[in-house]
Amino acid sequence: PVTELPLLRIEALTKRFDGFTALDNVSVDIKPGERFGLIGPNGSGKTTLINCISGAFRTEPSTVTFNGEDITRLPPHVRTRRGIARSFQIPRPFRSMTVIENLMVAVDFTSGHLTLSVDDHRDQAMAILQQMGLAAKANAGVTGLSQVELRKMELARAMATRPKLLISDEAMAGLSGSEVDEVLDLLIKLAGESITIIMIEHIMQAVMRFSERIMCLEAGKIIAIGKPSDVMANARVQEAYLGT
Ligand code: ADP
Repeated sequence: PVTELPLLRIEALTKRFDGFTALDNVSVDIKPGERFGLIGPNGSGKTTLINCISGAFRTEPSTVTFNGEDITRLPPHVRTRRGIARSFQIPRPFRSMTVIENLMVAVDFTSGHLTLSVDDHRDQAMAILQQMGLAAKANAGVTGLSQVELRKMELARAMATRPKLLISDEAMAGLSGSEVDEVLDLLIKLAGESITIIMIEHIMQAVMRFSERIMCLEAGKIIAIGKPSDVMANARVQEAYLGT
């Protein structure tokens, strides 16, 4: 569809903690369907920005607009129902449940007041597991999953809330090269199914391959935003990563 409306708009966002400025006048529009990479050295404000998008942090007086709606005052669970999902760097599954039961909990969360039967929950959860390549693990216990399966399940739990925007927070950290490719291919596939994705990642090759645009933060400020090759060639970005 021909539309210039961003899916997500952040306007002049400044976030302070006791006088310390974690984000300094950050404005950014994310387009529907965009594959967007968020990079920056440790402490540059990436997690803070994600918390402002997910609703964990208040952002007033600056506004956050999602899908044409001002969501600035909406709490996190309501933002999830509007279509913003976040996967955490450290997976937080319910460890006593099977994989599919974990997914059913996430399905239940967004089906909200609809009275879905247990079978409906199970069917929807199974569909997500198939989409995520985890169907064979549906009845496995969470504790028996490998690292890469856990990461995929964490993304699956986010997908079970039927997001328009998926925020992937270091889903690849600590994985082997081939596992990184697996998760990367999965995220690229989801983007192809018109999910907008913000990827926070330290593995540069992965962010480069994934992103249509990359934004680099340093000390709470945007120091570069644009095509991956341009951002990587940027002298300030290179300095930030060399730690000078
Ligand atoms: P990144 O995710 O890029 O590593 P963060 O957003 O976690 O960076 O942190 C940015 C800065 O804000 C850091 O200096 C951090 O100490 C500070 N910060 C983040 N959250 C809080 C908080 N809740 N209270 C105080 N300071 C915080």
